[in-house]
Amino acid sequence: MNTASTDDRPRILLCNDDGIRAPGIQALADALAPLGDLVVVAPESEQSAVGHAITVRDPVRAHEVEFATEAGPIPAWAVTGTPTDAVKLACHELLEETPDLVVSGINDGPNTAVNVLYSGTVSAATEASILGLDAVAVSLCEWDVDDFSGAERWARRIVRLVLRSGLPDGVLLNVNVPYEPEGGIQGVAVTRQARSRWEEGFDTRTDPADREYYWLAGTFVDLDDGDRTDTTAVEEGYVSVTPLQHDLTAHDTLSALRNWNWASDEDAADEPE
Ligand code: MN
Repeated sequence: MNTASTDDRPRILLCNDDGIRAPGIQALADALAPLGDLVVVAPESEQSAVGHAITVRDPVRAHEVEFATEAGPIPAWAVTGTPTDAVKLACHELLEETPDLVVSGINDGPNTAVNVLYSGTVSAATEASILGLDAVAVSLCEWDVDDFSGAERWARRIVRLVLRSGLPDGVLLNVNVPYEPEGGIQGVAVTRQARSRWEEGFDTRTDPADREYYWLAGTFVDLDDGDRTDTTAVEEGYVSVTPLQHDLTAHDTLSALRNWNWASDEDAADEPE
């Protein structure tokens, strides 16, 4: 084995939220195998919509599993926790060397607009960014499909650019690939996250013991008004690439908020002596 050449190859950690046996992470591994030395550390079970949760009251366990791409076997661990747990455990305990890049996906379904906050896929990449690593989240904007070839091709292209250019500190890329099996993708659009919300409804049901329970049943509402967002780009057939940051500060509001009269103590007059 020529170790000299492999030492030059970037080390790429793969994670996801659909579980280590999901077809999307296999597709991601197949797509990125030519670009670097891969290692997979991912949840052993599906963790979709767990957001940035971490496990603090239960043990986190990891066991090595077999994982192979067309280029051969790669090291892989299944982790009992969340996507964020998996990235932390990989970087702090399991891997001998810090990865050069973390790629999360390919998710089964889109992660645009406010869904970014609920997404375990994006959170794995966000955790990598918090750890100071370059990171990309990749989602395929359709559910339960077998054909990841379009998302694979665009993931490889985008990851190659990230490896070449690097990302600013604290910035990760959120990539959403339209499902266009006929090859109808128009190109890449660099977008912002759409304004949206879920208008929540719950189905109220009755269990066999005659107790009521609730099942989340929201409707997605796009609150944007026409300009290009992650949501509209995908609808128009573009691969959406959105730079995200984990600094959630509303920087534009800082100075106005500092001008509030924080020193006033009007309540003091109401308080009993
Ligand atoms: Mn998922």
